[in-house]
Amino acid sequence: MSRLYWPQSTSPRRTWDADAPLTFHTLLPISSAPEPQKPCFAYITNKIAETEFGDLEVVRATLQFGLDCYEEPTSQLSVSGTKGKVVCKVAHDELMLHELKEEANLYAGLLAPLQGTVVPKCYGYFVGHSRDGVIGVLVTEDCGSPPWSELKGCPKDFKLAALEALVHLHRVGVKHGDFMRRNIVTRGKHDVKSLRLLNFQHAREHKCRCAAKPIDMTKAPSWGDIPCGELYEAFMKVKPWL
Ligand SMILES: [Zn+2]
Repeated sequence: MSRLYWPQSTSPRRTWDADAPLTFHTLLPISSAPEPQKPCFAYITNKIAETEFGDLEVVRATLQFGLDCYEEPTSQLSVSGTKGKVVCKVAHDELMLHELKEEANLYAGLLAPLQGTVVPKCYGYFVGHSRDGVIGVLVTEDCGSPPWSELKGCPKDFKLAALEALVHLHRVGVKHGDFMRRNIVTRGKHDVKSLRLLNFQHAREHKCRCAAKPIDMTKAPSWGDIPCGELYEAFMKVKPWL
């Protein structure tokens, strides 16, 4: 996207204001996926989460290319399974802007080979001025929702897939930093093929001691089997051998 037109209000549109024209901020890419280089309008469908102080919001949105902001959204983005639907993280203060930029850099760097298989595709990070100051928006593929139950209560193949995804992350040199149910999503209930890890706000570059080591997921490990703090903790929490 060459630029992102972001609505001035992130509240979803209600039925009685559907006829009122939307007004947009213009955000420019700090990091962007190479294709397509067109301006894009974001139409917010719902808010997923918000921090207590409102400095970071997560919203679902539909993207629409073109210039006419009053047409119904019919995005031409080719996003498998969820045509044009994206999840956006919106930063409203300096610290969150910095964290989103770091997250965007990870997507563009170490996570690039895992986009679309282990982590969502990233469509870029955009920054611009709003009425309340600078805002930053990180745009990623909408890969669904977290499972309803805690990981240890999920089916065995789902637990294995979640841990395999985390191992992939470590093998490309990234520690997730927040491996929790809320950061593991799928498009269907416990659908293993669509499972993705997301939210790399706390992720760090990491030299994993398990990088070249096969991990036996069929039995409870000892520390010597998985000598990496995050992987060992994740295995002990999820217990894929049960
Ligand atoms: Zn590791």
